[in-house]
Amino acid sequence: MNIAMLLDMAVAGDPDRVAIGRRDSGTTCAELRDTAAGVAAVVRRSGARELVFAGVNGPAFPMMLFGAALAGVPLVPVNYRLSAEALTGLLQHTEKPLVVADEAFAGVFGEAGLDVRTPEALLAQGRAAEPVDGPEGSPDDPAVLLFTSGTTAAPKAAVLRHRHLTSYVLQTVDFASAAPDDAVLAAVPPYHVAGIGSVLSNLYAGRRMVHLGSFEPGAWLDLVRSEGITSAMVVPTMLARVVEHLGGGPADVPTLRALAYGGARMPHTVLEAALRAFPDTGFTNAYGLTETSSTIALLGPDDHRAALSSDDPAVRARLRSAGRMVPGVEGQIRDAAGGVQPPGAPGELWVRGPQVSGEYKGAAALLDGEGWFHTRDLAHFDAEGYLFIEGRADDTIIRGGENIAPAEVEDVLLRHTAVREAAVVGIPDEEWGERIAAFVVTHEGAAVDAETLRAWVRTHLRGSKTPDAVVFRDELPYTPTGKLLRRRLVTTAPDD
Ligand code: AMP
Repeated sequence: MNIAMLLDMAVAGDPDRVAIGRRDSGTTCAELRDTAAGVAAVVRRSGARELVFAGVNGPAFPMMLFGAALAGVPLVPVNYRLSAEALTGLLQHTEKPLVVADEAFAGVFGEAGLDVRTPEALLAQGRAAEPVDGPEGSPDDPAVLLFTSGTTAAPKAAVLRHRHLTSYVLQTVDFASAAPDDAVLAAVPPYHVAGIGSVLSNLYAGRRMVHLGSFEPGAWLDLVRSEGITSAMVVPTMLARVVEHLGGGPADVPTLRALAYGGARMPHTVLEAALRAFPDTGFTNAYGLTETSSTIALLGPDDHRAALSSDDPAVRARLRSAGRMVPGVEGQIRDAAGGVQPPGAPGELWVRGPQVSGEYKGAAALLDGEGWFHTRDLAHFDAEGYLFIEGRADDTIIRGGENIAPAEVEDVLLRHTAVREAAVVGIPDEEWGERIAAFVVTHEGAAVDAETLRAWVRTHLRGSKTPDAVVFRDELPYTPTGKLLRRRLVTTAPDD
């Protein structure tokens, strides 16, 4: 199945339903289909093999996603915040691209000698063109190429084929299940897999999409209120900024029934503050990877409520979990020797299912003989199948032969009232192999010294997990999608 079929189903279900934008003036499902078919004609006429998009999230993004699908070429959304050098570097991995870029980011591509047009120009050409009929190609063709965040390695393009993305939607979303007033606020950038998943699943569910191009907490809250937004998805750094903006007060968003978070580990302190600020909103933790076509495990609103109100420590602990695997996806924990681990035992997570691609452009799929994909996340399942993610295996600090998951130390630091953000990394050391460095951002006006924080960790964890150095910073480096850039911290750590 081609992802354009999801659009065709939405049109067949209700052509006049507003799919994108304001209720009174937005784009209907039928208009979205027509524009996408025109965009497809422009793409085909150009002879391009890929449609590259460098721009913020907005109505043009779904039109290009389906336009590319109808033209039979993949959409390649790229991170417009990258440096000119990095962006032109990414383009070397593309084939005969048609480049579409917001005015603000177009210069880079022009300087690299590429033909570049704005989304507005592409859509205008599309509306004037003779629309194409059906989608071209097979379900096995790439629908989207996504450069992975590259927090630990050079970026590579994950290949998501039509069959992966449609499997994800068909397995996890009920067709036309949204209520007539439902509206989702799309604030995750197009180059993140959650941005792609959001377009497909909300269109299929029949939920109007409202876009916020550049995230800012005040603007996000205003839009939720003014547009009567009923659901939204945020990465942890966005939720942290919303909570901070509210300063302990209530969010006052009566329409917001559902708030999903994911894309990186959610600090527990932020989640607790958010649960207090949004008392009437149902929270969902969504865990997934680019290579798995977005969400593969979910902790839903009922799980959040059950965990919050339970006296059973095992149930309470689930507030820190990523929930259970979604239908159609299996998960397995394996130890270093490949042995499958029982519930409770830690190891690395392997996953399998029709939405799991595990493939990068120019390389064979990284699935084992039985179709399992190695996520490289440290994890365990509890006895009832709840998945706990402890972080990337590559981030493990090995100090004097002992494996230390940074998340464990970060969680303890974050429980100190003076600490707002914390990042723990391993620094190469001749004696220990690696030493532990903690980078800390304190709350405004809070005063704490390094020795106090070291003592705080020592009283909560084993002595060997105490940071050897605590470094105070005004801010920590994150990707726009909320991932901590640990490599950057390692290179700026103090020597002693
Ligand atoms: P990416 O492919 O760039 O989206 O990164 C995927 C990685 O982000 C996963 O392997 C996890 O390490 C992390 N991640 C994504 N969602 C969650 C979540 N809900 N909780 C914890 N970590 C997450």
